[in-house]
Amino acid sequence: MKNIFGYKYEKLENELIKIGEKKFRTRQVYEWIYLHKQYSFDKMTNLSKTSIQKLKNNFTIDFIKINKIEESSDTIKFLFELNDGNLIETVLMKHNYGNSLCVSSQVGCNMGCSFCASGLLKKVRNLDAHEIVQQILLAEDYLNERIDSVVIMGIGEPFDNYDNVLDFIRIINHPYGLAIGARHITISTCGIIPKIKEFIKEDIQVNLAISLHAPNDTLRSSIMKINDVYKINDLVNTLKEYINKTNRRVTIEYVMLRYINDSSKEAAELAKLLKGMNVYINLIPYNEVDSSGYKKSKKEQTLKFYDYLKKAGLNVTIRREFGENIDAACGQLRAKEVEK
Ligand code: SF4
Repeated sequence: MKNIFGYKYEKLENELIKIGEKKFRTRQVYEWIYLHKQYSFDKMTNLSKTSIQKLKNNFTIDFIKINKIEESSDTIKFLFELNDGNLIETVLMKHNYGNSLCVSSQVGCNMGCSFCASGLLKKVRNLDAHEIVQQILLAEDYLNERIDSVVIMGIGEPFDNYDNVLDFIRIINHPYGLAIGARHITISTCGIIPKIKEFIKEDIQVNLAISLHAPNDTLRSSIMKINDVYKINDLVNTLKEYINKTNRRVTIEYVMLRYINDSSKEAAELAKLLKGMNVYINLIPYNEVDSSGYKKSKKEQTLKFYDYLKKAGLNVTIRREFGENIDAACGQLRAKEVEK
């Protein structure tokens, strides 16, 4: 039996029709679980006893569990335990414009980026859509506030779990689901080109972010294994195709690693690479991971890098730092718990 939170609207409609229910039952069930947050079939009072029994016979409604929470003034980090005992992380960031939640899409990650704590532990399995949806529901419940925006940038490579992640997006974006606007949802990939091409064809307005982190193949391959498969020029050409076809801006994530990718030479190469493209560059202060050996760039260096790009006419910001004191680097909390 599959968890009810794993069904996008149309899929649930089909399933309900298969078990002899009317189409409109889908809206009722969606409203119970996503609007009224009623997580027991028995308490869905506008459904007949027979319908409730059918739901119970065909779907589960159980939740992942909170294993641990770490909190600072602007960040809450959740360690969730899945029903098979695996652990994942979710990070909530409080901005002045609302609450943003960074969700995980896999248990571990096989992409092996050398600066990343999530990649230290290999992929165990993909998350089902319900396990991604429930990260939001439990965070909202804990905070007693609505999550305004969602980034799929936690543990895992979302395009390595394409179907479940796309179902997740459709569920949270649906007006009877969590009704989170597509423009408030960002999917972040390390650059799996065939999946970006597939994503171009999806009729959905969510934001696309690319973890670029280096402006040339030699450097990028030395910190991100994926670059051995999909080279920078091919990636940039695919992004141009995305921008042309969707008319949407792409976010370029660039983590600032001291003496690795933060010199003026790299700033110049990056400016040249992205010149004229509708992109927005996000310079990310690195959250140091004990075992990786990388250091965070010095503040002056980050500012210099920023200035260079700005002067070259690119849209660029430096990401505000969150939760340094609570192992906020994605995957750190989980890595520590699994080690124990
Ligand atoms: S940065 Fe993202 S893609 Fe790379 S290893 Fe970490 S989780 Fe995986």
